[in-house]
Amino acid sequence: MKWSPGDRSNIEDRRGMRMGGGGMRGGGMQLGIGGIIVLAILSYATGTDFLSLVGGGGDPLAPASGPAEPGQIATSPTEERAVDFVAAVSQDNQDTWTRLLGPRYERTVVSLFRDSVESACGMAESATGPFYCPGDHKVYIDLSFFEELDRKFGAPGDFAQAYVIAHEFGHHVQNLLGTNERAARDRSTGPNSASVALELQADCYAGVWGHEASRSGRFQAGKIELEPGDAEEALQAASSIGDDRLQKMGTGRVAPERFTHGSSAQRMQWFQRGLQSGDPARCDTFASVTQ
Ligand SMILES: [Zn+2]
Repeated sequence: MKWSPGDRSNIEDRRGMRMGGGGMRGGGMQLGIGGIIVLAILSYATGTDFLSLVGGGGDPLAPASGPAEPGQIATSPTEERAVDFVAAVSQDNQDTWTRLLGPRYERTVVSLFRDSVESACGMAESATGPFYCPGDHKVYIDLSFFEELDRKFGAPGDFAQAYVIAHEFGHHVQNLLGTNERAARDRSTGPNSASVALELQADCYAGVWGHEASRSGRFQAGKIELEPGDAEEALQAASSIGDDRLQKMGTGRVAPERFTHGSSAQRMQWFQRGLQSGDPARCDTFASVTQ
């Protein structure tokens, strides 16, 4: 993937803000990238810490420069590079959707946080994974997730990371188009649930952006240009966070009736459909997933 830093106007930097307390509280629907939150709920219900099976193990992007002065953010060159990366991918996603949707698209920001964050959807911790909050229209990411994606979920590569960001922008598009209200009314789970349809559509929308980014000769500051092998990285990422795989990592067995995001095969299939067509209209998961 070719990319270079643009400006950071697509980023809201909350890394320096510390939240008191912990736990996931508060209302509203968080639209995440995977079923990681399911593991937290399982842990709570069973007393077994499933999150430790997939998470934990230190902070790979831990600041190298010591504690922050008030108003400053302790960071490292590696972490700043990651911020530039998120900014560039976000800018390119928003430019693409502005072109595709015209005035229906409203620009938003990606809010970077560490450990935990307070959003209009309540308090969230890093273990939730990246998510979109429909209440305040923002994407939330703790940069340490990218390391998790590589180490714990077996999905390395910059386009794998870009897919995760693009998936969350897919939820923003759904919010603007009113699609996620359909899913909000139906809180059921399972392979044919509205939740799965919504998540697979966000994967397809991520592919739509990937299609745009695969046009050659578009490379410039704040723009992405895909290279050979990038699509495979994203497909690997989509596969690695399928509900069946996450459930297997967490409990050793697959329970389709609890699917919220779709299986690995479905997630790859819908991302691929967006990537090949570049057409959001081809992403009508509700017609083919929900019965
Ligand atoms: Zn999602």
